[in-house]
Amino acid sequence: MATVSSWKCFYCKKPVAKDSVYARIVYGSNNTFRYAHKECFEAAIADSKEQRKGEIIDPNQITVCVYCKKSMNKDDEDCLPINQPYNTKFAHKACIEEEAKREKTPEEELDIYIMNLFNLDFIPMNIRQQKKIYVEKEHLTYSGIKGTLKYFYEVQQHRPDPNNPSIGIVPYTYEQAKAYYKQLAMAKMKNQSKDLTYESKVICWKIKKPQREKKKSKWFSFLDEEEVNE
Ligand SMILES: [Zn+2]
Ligand SMILES: [Zn+2]
Repeated sequence: MATVSSWKCFYCKKPVAKDSVYARIVYGSNNTFRYAHKECFEAAIADSKEQRKGEIIDPNQITVCVYCKKSMNKDDEDCLPINQPYNTKFAHKACIEEEAKREKTPEEELDIYIMNLFNLDFIPMNIRQQKKIYVEKEHLTYSGIKGTLKYFYEVQQHRPDPNNPSIGIVPYTYEQAKAYYKQLAMAKMKNQSKDLTYESKVICWKIKKPQREKKKSKWFSFLDEEEVNE
């Protein structure tokens, strides 16, 4: 039998297993704690023997905020699951809002896309290896990989297989996706210039030219709408 580490109960001096429901008592001024059986603590309170503050802790209810890394109780109102339906990762409501505002790196954007695609709450080892090879050896970009996946699964409407998560289609589809986005970007630009009056068309043409070249070389930036307006 595996032995679970324990504290000595503050009242009865018998061991309190750390994986059981226990009482944590604030002892002294410097936020030091003593530990006890839930029952022993509650009995001491009932007898008015105990004036110190304490709380009952259920280790199964304790989790760590994935963003600020502080421990929290799953019952707390501001503790929310961040990976439904798994409910294995939690974060403070405020930390989730902060995270939503934070600008993500292209790699983070890719990871989020992959996890949503295959209904995962982590990036499996095989996909981590694929990513590494594509970026380091084949010199693909993270946003290019994401764009290729979007093209394959959203434009071409292939069905992702959650039982076999893999991004192995990327090298075979990359060039095709690239051509698709290039065409899309050109059509977009054509439409945009249609809406302009003659005067602004002339001005835009002059100032837009270098931008056009930039877009051409970074064609995959069209994937991220924010970047289009750069
Ligand atoms: Zn006890
Ligand atoms: Zn937090």
